[in-house]
Amino acid sequence: MKPFLNPYHFIPLSKKKIVGEPLDEKANLTGRIEVEIRTKTPLFIPNTSNEHALKVPGSPEGHKSYDFFSYNQLTEPVDDRDETREPVIPGSEIRGMIRSVYEALTASCLSAVDDSKTILKRTEQTFDAGLIYKEKGQYFLAGGKREKIKEDNPFYNQAKTLPEGTTLYYSSETNKRISTSPQDRMKAGYLLKGEPGPEMEEKSKAGFAIITLKNDGETIAHLTDSDLARFNTVLDSYDKNKEKVQRDDGKVYTGYKEYRKQWNDFQKNGTEYFPVYYCRIKDSTGSADQLYLSPACITKKAYKNTIGDILKAHGQFEPCEDESQLCQACRLFGMVSDTAKVASRVRFTDARLEKASWKGYYQKPVTLPIIDTPKISTTEFYLKRPENASYWTFDYWRDQRGNPTLYVPEIAGRKFYWHSSDVLRQSAVPGENNRTIRPIKIKDDNAFKTWVYFERLTEKELKQLVYLLNISGKGTRGYKMGGAKPFGYGSITMKTNRVLIRRLSVNENNDIVIEEEDEIEKYCNTPYEDLFEPETKESFELLSDFDSTKSYSVSYPITDGQRAEQQGGEIVEEGFAWFSENKQPPMANDEHIQLEKYMAPLDGKHMALAKTK
Ligand SMILES: [Zn+2]
Repeated sequence: MKPFLNPYHFIPLSKKKIVGEPLDEKANLTGRIEVEIRTKTPLFIPNTSNEHALKVPGSPEGHKSYDFFSYNQLTEPVDDRDETREPVIPGSEIRGMIRSVYEALTASCLSAVDDSKTILKRTEQTFDAGLIYKEKGQYFLAGGKREKIKEDNPFYNQAKTLPEGTTLYYSSETNKRISTSPQDRMKAGYLLKGEPGPEMEEKSKAGFAIITLKNDGETIAHLTDSDLARFNTVLDSYDKNKEKVQRDDGKVYTGYKEYRKQWNDFQKNGTEYFPVYYCRIKDSTGSADQLYLSPACITKKAYKNTIGDILKAHGQFEPCEDESQLCQACRLFGMVSDTAKVASRVRFTDARLEKASWKGYYQKPVTLPIIDTPKISTTEFYLKRPENASYWTFDYWRDQRGNPTLYVPEIAGRKFYWHSSDVLRQSAVPGENNRTIRPIKIKDDNAFKTWVYFERLTEKELKQLVYLLNISGKGTRGYKMGGAKPFGYGSITMKTNRVLIRRLSVNENNDIVIEEEDEIEKYCNTPYEDLFEPETKESFELLSDFDSTKSYSVSYPITDGQRAEQQGGEIVEEGFAWFSENKQPPMANDEHIQLEKYMAPLDGKHMALAKTK
């Protein structure tokens, strides 16, 4: 049995972003490069003009299907015999792929990341009850006590009709009386109904809660703008995910709509307290702490550190902004920020087949299983494990005993997919949550041809560009492009045929003459070491080599049971199961994922796969 290998890996970041040199008069090379692309495994790039582009027998109405990219505006769904459309590889697709490789090899910024986005992650940790109050325009959090109102409480049905945050009076004596007006021996509290939705299933069947002040209202924290902004992000995320889920018990999940409205009202006019749940991570080495607010006790956290913060703190790899500090990739491919705008000096045109008929180019459509490719919030994959950490997040890590330390993490690197000959060809059952695609085949004669135009390049830049565009000129190397990469799709070869340099001269009649000369020999034989960062070489060679993963079974993470199924020739429908199964009982009251059971390290010291524990 071949060991399992995750479908992608990371090229580690260098120590620091390398700032490119400003251009001078030596940047004078203008011309075009003829490039040939061939499919090594089936290729899929979607034509997004129609999300129901194919006739998929047995599929429900909401099932999405996409045909391969063409210039056609797709209207009626076609069956798999239709081969009237010319498959085209859009220039933007080639450009994106080449740029991300160029960025990796030149220690450039990560231009494609959304650096300011707040990262949310579901946590199994139970939050504590609290009450927010205002004083002189500032917000504070007081400790709270959660009193549950179960369905057998006579007040239960009335509470259901009251708005979130309503002041109620509560007696904790055995009969648990509740009143809407002050009564003797009753304590003031605030209604927190919560949601019966996916975030609170099972564990909180209990019904509503009344949050009363704990220890006479001891203040726990002064809430910073960041704390409040992240609270709003959590609320927004519930709203965005709103699916009006009607559960078996008839309860409807609305995404905390009413809670959010009451919170907005409280910010404008509130005079007392507003009920909330919170979690505080206290750094075990110092006095610093980090607070998370939420409308639910079983919830998700909005982390303080953004990807931008993380990239900035470890080598300044956040997308470039300042024109005087541009990385080499931004100088060559262009960039736009609030303060700077640099035009690209390279232009990629669409790659097309030199044929008049596309018969035999399309592969039979395939329905992809649902996979839960790890999102950036899957810290175990995306962030480097801090030494001695048993668990790590975007804001803190925990040691074996569960003690947290606040930190700014490091990302694992730049994500790239392995080449693999394990290509998924068997369709999953078409449903509402997966999709069917029609890729194009591997065909020896299907060379796509394109021209890459360049202007004002330095000699080194042109050599770099030709090196990348001629990746398959020597050895068994290539790139991954397009969709369905985790399923083995999208391996391509890329070869340069001609490098035409344009030169202008004036003839005896004083006319300007444009001459083009093929100088491929001059530009295509420079060794890697003379062009790119040496520390990235090994990773890049492993990732671009078609044979690197030969002795592995490349697959998205699957469970042992699914693996047996897969090896028995069955299709694994639920690619997300591994993620569910690996959320083990919380250690130190938090989530914990173990990877090593399913992941084998690949040879090569930079390529050892993420291993926990
Ligand atoms: Zn940059």
